[in-house]
Amino acid sequence: MQKRHQIYEMLPKIDCGACGAPTCMTFAEDVVRGDAEADECVFLTMKSFEALSKSLLEAVAKQSRKVRGSLEGHPHDA
Ligand code: SF4
Repeated sequence: MQKRHQIYEMLPKIDCGACGAPTCMTFAEDVVRGDAEADECVFLTMKSFEALSKSLLEAVAKQSRKVRGSLEGHPHDA
């Protein structure tokens, strides 16, 4: 019950049906029962990609600053 609630809270709650479940709540129940995977919700997957993209961009920016600092003679700038 609590697990279903945790999953439901991550969902956009728009009941679009794209995952094959009629509502976000039934989708959360399916995930808890093992009948569906959380990444079958396209919106949840997009949110994950967004977070991953942001994290990758931050890592690239950090490395870029390090390289730039190194080239300019400030290797510890980050
Ligand atoms: S795809 Fe996501 S938003 Fe749409 S009904 Fe399924 S769980 Fe809800």
